[in-house]
Amino acid sequence: MFSKILIANRGEIALRILRACKELGIPTVAVHSTADADAMHVRLADESVCIGPPAARESYLNIPQLLAACEITGADAVHPGYGFLSENARFAEILEAHNIEFIGPTAEHIRIMGDKIQAKQTARDLGIPVVPGSDGAVTSSDDAHAIAREIGYPVLVKAASGGGGRGMKVAKSEADLDTALSTARSEAAAAFGDDALYMEKYLGKPRHIEIQVLGDGKGNAVHLGERDCSLQRRHQKVLEEAPSPSLNAEQRSQIGEIVANAMRKLKYRGVGTVEFLYENGEFYFIEMNTRLQVEHPVTEMITGIDLVNEQIRIAAGGSLDMTQEDISFEGHAIECRINAEDPVNFTPSPGTITYYHPPGGLGVRVDSGVYQGYKIPPYYDSLIGKLIVHGRNRVECMMRLRRCLDEFVVDEIKSTIPLFRDLVDNQDIANGQYDIHWLEKHLENKS
Ligand code: ADP
Repeated sequence: MFSKILIANRGEIALRILRACKELGIPTVAVHSTADADAMHVRLADESVCIGPPAARESYLNIPQLLAACEITGADAVHPGYGFLSENARFAEILEAHNIEFIGPTAEHIRIMGDKIQAKQTARDLGIPVVPGSDGAVTSSDDAHAIAREIGYPVLVKAASGGGGRGMKVAKSEADLDTALSTARSEAAAAFGDDALYMEKYLGKPRHIEIQVLGDGKGNAVHLGERDCSLQRRHQKVLEEAPSPSLNAEQRSQIGEIVANAMRKLKYRGVGTVEFLYENGEFYFIEMNTRLQVEHPVTEMITGIDLVNEQIRIAAGGSLDMTQEDISFEGHAIECRINAEDPVNFTPSPGTITYYHPPGGLGVRVDSGVYQGYKIPPYYDSLIGKLIVHGRNRVECMMRLRRCLDEFVVDEIKSTIPLFRDLVDNQDIANGQYDIHWLEKHLENKS
């Protein structure tokens, strides 16, 4: 096992990782920017190192500083969390060159899946169904028009290096296509330094369903079922649940087995998520994330498996200690992403938390790094915590969620808690009848 783990992240996920390390008896090193000196994970870690000023590119993305922090503290493994350097193949390689373990998949797998064009080709070769679209990159306007005619409008232009919904543009008809291409291209170049584009059939009313996988890099892999992340705003997930209200056990094990088999063939190591759009009973691969995801707790709640613990064990050379038959799904779980944002217009709302009271009780989990008196810095994403609720079935889970949202107090900042209070009382949500466009339409109707 590792003698010391450096956590190359901040916020709720840094604390989540720290908790797993403590339960494994592994000493931890927290790193932080000058803006995060008072963060909870810094207070609870065995050691901490300041790695730079607030701007992420000078601190949490600063590879030389992170390496120096490993050297000073003697950390022999790094957990990257999500975001920041978690899907940076070069970072994984540099650590390896310094004999420090990167807790995640191989650099090669990160690189393949990080390029969405290559990811799609790889998925298809591994037997995973994909969205119809361009076979590789779109190189010219003529090329794009020909492909669009073939797959049929509307089409979606996407960035090969895309993430967070950026560099994605819909063309409803031929007249829109050139504008969609040029805006997507400039957005992608600015955001990712890579203007490669590809095209997909635009699906009108799909759900976003993703399969959680776990592999040991030796050809053993299992799937841990799905998460339904269809409630989105601007392609960003807002609420996630497992199991999906739209799948039955047979559909689940069918797609789960396809994905687990692909991961066995790939010899995938660690946790990963294969994301699909699901429409009219068909699954269409969109991308694979080669890291722990924000919404991983809903899977933990219904399987009882600690995904971070598994990541660490496997990174240390351990083999998968479960088979597909060992995995069962108990009850229902829902996660709400609580952001420090205005619940109506979603503008960021940093500031000091003057009063904090999280909910508790049976089946309730709050993953958050905030506390009373904590000052939310304006430099990073607005996620301040996740409320995850488990029930024996979906109805019980929803009732418990409503109760928890009533108890939750985060003053004096604005948060998205009122949005979730509105959602738990909605009939479509109660019925599980929503697709990826439902939330935006709902918000439009209210304004
Ligand atoms: P990113 O990496 O930027 O998040 P994804 O490929 O994961 O991009 O897509 C993010 C979201 O965009 C999806 O959850 C879905 O809401 C929407 N989306 C992506 N591809 C399509 C498509 N072909 N048709 C309709 N919506 C799509």
